Amino acid sequence: MPRKPAARILKGTPRNLELLARRLQAGDIVGVPTETVYGLAADALNPTACRKIFEAKGRPVSDPLIVHLHSLRDLAKVAVANSAALKLAETFWPGPLTLVLPKLEVVPSIVSAGLPSVAVRVPAHPLFRRLLKLVGRPLAAPSANPFGYISPTTAEHVRSGLGTKIRYILDGGASGIGLESTIVDLRNPAKPRLLRPGAITREQLTETLGCAIAWHPQRSGQIAKPQLAPGSLLRHYSPLTPLVIHARASVALAARSAPDEAWLFISKPAGTLSKNIYWLDRSGNLRTAARRLFAQLRSLDTKGYSKIHAELAGANGTGPAAAINDRLRRAAAK
Ligand code: AMP
Ligand code: MG
Repeated sequence: MPRKPAARILKGTPRNLELLARRLQAGDIVGVPTETVYGLAADALNPTACRKIFEAKGRPVSDPLIVHLHSLRDLAKVAVANSAALKLAETFWPGPLTLVLPKLEVVPSIVSAGLPSVAVRVPAHPLFRRLLKLVGRPLAAPSANPFGYISPTTAEHVRSGLGTKIRYILDGGASGIGLESTIVDLRNPAKPRLLRPGAITREQLTETLGCAIAWHPQRSGQIAKPQLAPGSLLRHYSPLTPLVIHARASVALAARSAPDEAWLFISKPAGTLSKNIYWLDRSGNLRTAARRLFAQLRSLDTKGYSKIHAELAGANGTGPAAAINDRLRRAAAK
């Protein structure tokens, strides 16, 4: 059998966008840029198209997909909104915030993993928005990587992970945020719950809604109740190299480890630096650190280290540190 060619990376020219919109309308899957991470998109209302996402990623069908809309006006076509949802949507859309709401019948059960709810978001990336408009339908899209590996933040990452399993990737440059969206469960609007921390912080959500947002970060050994947060598996976003996290790391601690172990700091550490020491942002800006985290983990994964040590972000893990620490904990989970 002839081997399938590797996916083509296309620039966002009007012609290419037209081509990709037609492919999506015909039921194909396409790699797309978003401001969070790259997604693997399909027509959200076409179950056959959505099934291809699960096959290409090797994703269990028990893990539901996020549905991307062109605008807030499209929300009523797929979900039952409530006033808390509208408040958050008006404040943070387009942007990196996903809302879980009761779904309408048009949303196929493969998208919601058989649940009566759907996760929705209006993305901010200009090319993805133009594509959504051209397609004229909502697009379901999880991260465009083999299930369990580090999420892609460039078109090249998508090609290296999914290679011949898809035909096209739209190139929108490196993702500006670099971590998956914040997910808020609003099925019971009186009791909003944070399902996944992201660039929109729990503090911002609390301020907008004027009420507390419950969050139960998972610890090793704990399994989330699937009916509450399906697919929120503890181990996720992992490099192949074993990863160990540290609440506090230092150059002195690194010097006591084997030289074939890498150390990843949030900011440039003080002391004598050896070549197995890396940092995400010289001055420790957490937004910049978040944007670079996945690309840095991928890069360290290819350097032949026997272990990667990573320092957690400070500030008690609140604000943007919460999302970075959540991804590091999951990447380190056994
Ligand atoms: P991602 O892995 O980025 O595609 O994120 C999808 C995540 O959103 C899932 O793993 C769930 O935690 C959450 N999610 C998606 N759809 C639903 C839904 N219908 N009900 C509850 N949570 C959902
Ligand atoms: Mg994912």
